[in-house]
Amino acid sequence: MSIDHDSPERAVSFSAPPGLQPENEAIFNNSSEGIIITDINRVILRVNPGFARITGYSQDEVIGKTPSFLKSQRHDNAFFQRIDTSLQTDGKWEGEIWNRRKNGMIYPQWLTILPIKKEDKFDRYVGIFTDITAYINSNTTIRNHAYYDSLTGLPNRMFLYDRLTFMLNLARRRKGILGVLLLDLNRFKLINDTLGYTFGDQLLQNVATRLKSCTREVDSVFRLGDDEFAILLEDILHPQDAARVAKRILSNCSQPYLIADKELFVTISIGVSLFPGDGEQFELLLKNAEAAMLRAKELGISNYQHYKPSMNTQAFEQLTLEYNLQKALNEKQFIVFYQPLINLKNREIIGAEALIRWQHPDLGMVPPAQFIPLAEETGLIIPIGEWVLDTACRQMRLWQKKFKKPYVISVNLSARQFQQKDLISMVNRVLHAVSFDPGNLKLEITESIGMKNPEQTILILNELKSMGIPIAIDDFGTGYSSLSYLKRFPIDTIKIDRSFVMEMQTGSNDTAIVDAIIAMAHSLNLNVIAEGVETLEQAEYLARKECEQVQGFYFSKPVFIDDFEQLLKNAPWINNGKDDSR
Ligand code: C2E
Ligand code: MG
Ligand code: MG
Repeated sequence: MSIDHDSPERAVSFSAPPGLQPENEAIFNNSSEGIIITDINRVILRVNPGFARITGYSQDEVIGKTPSFLKSQRHDNAFFQRIDTSLQTDGKWEGEIWNRRKNGMIYPQWLTILPIKKEDKFDRYVGIFTDITAYINSNTTIRNHAYYDSLTGLPNRMFLYDRLTFMLNLARRRKGILGVLLLDLNRFKLINDTLGYTFGDQLLQNVATRLKSCTREVDSVFRLGDDEFAILLEDILHPQDAARVAKRILSNCSQPYLIADKELFVTISIGVSLFPGDGEQFELLLKNAEAAMLRAKELGISNYQHYKPSMNTQAFEQLTLEYNLQKALNEKQFIVFYQPLINLKNREIIGAEALIRWQHPDLGMVPPAQFIPLAEETGLIIPIGEWVLDTACRQMRLWQKKFKKPYVISVNLSARQFQQKDLISMVNRVLHAVSFDPGNLKLEITESIGMKNPEQTILILNELKSMGIPIAIDDFGTGYSSLSYLKRFPIDTIKIDRSFVMEMQTGSNDTAIVDAIIAMAHSLNLNVIAEGVETLEQAEYLARKECEQVQGFYFSKPVFIDDFEQLLKNAPWINNGKDDSR
């Protein structure tokens, strides 16, 4: 089938479109790869359905154009010259190239260009490409994000990453200077809280417009998060140029904003870092700009600071991390994963333990061990803990309704939360807001938390108990268990630490320890949950010892909502429990 059949109206306006042999025609039409055929002047003659699927452009939209409208601006002229040279000398070019889809998104493709000869003369080019986004994604989680911020239309952090990485390579070769300005509005949260989100949104849009007006055409403005912006100064001549831009921004942005008939003054803190002096890589440049921005913020007025190495002293690192955690909370970077709790008698899911994760924009998924201690130290665990409780109860309530089962949700309490005066009223507040039955919530504390001040622990646990909330002692066996106190603690469940479960099959002492814990717990009328069950043998052994519940990778890792729901619908171990092939 030639193009005449595909689009007869086009056929009249373009020079002879290439027809193909029938078998090639079938490949052309059914290939999942994009195929583009141009004449020797690179005017597009034909594209296949694969092209349309990947780029978003239909054949009609592209015929007669040259492929340059697909360019992403990520490659410089030298890059395209290299392609030309290679076509002439090697008769082919193959490599990764970033192009732009119709929806504006830039994406990576693996492209092969072949010049085709006819009667010893080149007369067309064929380009064959695969969309390698998924491949790149699997290598870096960071690439998962869209490129633009929907509120301000500015490119986002992901874009900054790409752009800055690209510019850094260029600057290295050209021995140029790059500047990164990190800007943060002061007291934006207060504005949002008092004047409302709509007002806050309009303010951000106004700020975005002003920032763009303060920069040159070549400099890009990015929105990185809530009230955080960045400006990339490409190819500046002197470090002072960055200061000049910062000053211009400060003076422009300190003019009052008129929003919804209200006049508002906003102060801005700016941190500046420069390539190559303050860092050679994206991460370091941004981190140092952030350190400088925080120093500016400490002053509380509109000002800018250049990065200085002294800003990365330990105290300052702490401040940066704290700021990031606070931001993570504001920007909803935390998520809760759910690990099923299994009833060993019938292997049914009776609920889940809620386990927090931090989806860091640059670092990917950060496990709790890496940030809970800091959140504890800074006190941020209080709002974070409340968020986890609220999120997990809300989600479990949905599942209870959907599957009509009284599922349990188990939530970890940290030491600081446990000592918090407001704990009881906070838990009450959440249960009330979510209409969650207190009997289906379980709060986990570790032995060491409980033993810090046993008398106070008893008081708090009694209060929780009187609200009808069951309590579990987590990681049992790792602290300095005092059985006499354990007896006095009004608890319901003991969770055997996974280190004991792990050791079980090796035939070491730990089988004896596990046996003893289970027997002791039962004599105190306590339920036992074994953590970290990774094999069928462990599960079977624990079942023989009448351990009531288990959780562990043998059944499932902690997973996100959709996967957990899948388990609720159809847990694979219920039907083929003897099959250890998972
Ligand atoms: P935890 O409460 O003892 O949670 C169980 C940990 O064991 C989880 O690690 C879970 O992923 C891991 N685990 C479960 N089954 C297995 C297994 O079969 N094999 C192995 N190797 N590991 C298993 P995770 O999610 O990294 O959490 C670590 C700790 O962080 C938790 O220990 C808990 O103390 C704390 N944590 C997690 N979420 C929160 C939270 O929302 N608030 C507070 N305060 N602490 C939390
Ligand atoms: Mg736990
Ligand atoms: Mg545990």
